[in-house]
Amino acid sequence: MTDADLLNAWPFDAGPPLPRLLRFVDALAAGAGSATAKSSGTMESLGTFNRRLARLHLQLVGRPLEAKVVCACGEELELALPIEAVAATADPPATVGIDTPNRRSFRLPCLSEIALAREPRALAEACALEEGDALSDEHLATLDAVWSAADPAAEITLDFACTACGVPIHAQADLALFVARELDMKMRGFLAEIHNLAGAYGWSEAEVLMVPAARRRLYAALIGGRS
Ligand SMILES: [Zn+2]
Repeated sequence: MTDADLLNAWPFDAGPPLPRLLRFVDALAAGAGSATAKSSGTMESLGTFNRRLARLHLQLVGRPLEAKVVCACGEELELALPIEAVAATADPPATVGIDTPNRRSFRLPCLSEIALAREPRALAEACALEEGDALSDEHLATLDAVWSAADPAAEITLDFACTACGVPIHAQADLALFVARELDMKMRGFLAEIHNLAGAYGWSEAEVLMVPAARRRLYAALIGGRS
């Protein structure tokens, strides 16, 4: 995967982060001629996609993701997202079951279904692997808990105590938002380099990107020193 591949795959629009990241992941897979290019991230569970985002972030950006949380006491706290832990999560099971009172099996909801924000009962029936007992509200709550336990990377939670007042704080982080922001900064960094080097040496975008990253930085320093 070259810097040009990354730049070509990145959607430079201001849309919501999750669809942009899905398009990015699909474009990278298609560009790499991956056999799984057809199996879009939208068919993955949220946890599986979060794991993919965490690995992508570690591979492409690497630096810790810091979330800012403001406590009720006014203290502003910075916390690192558990990105390594998310990247290391295991595959969720293909199916889970609940007693209704007969056993019913369900697959995990995939991203495209979650994005539709379907009503819980419709979502449960869409994920049911066979017909069975009617689902009560209690069953739906149980299924939701079973789904969460089976796909731990779906929810990225931060549990800590405020350093100023000691109150325990429970916060949830939207990983897609953080990863999209970091990748956007990285891609805009490429654009700045291209702008700089193309202007100074008359190279094309493709020519600039063919220069290894370390050498691009050295050229940029030379250009900076000359002006
Ligand atoms: Zn506090």
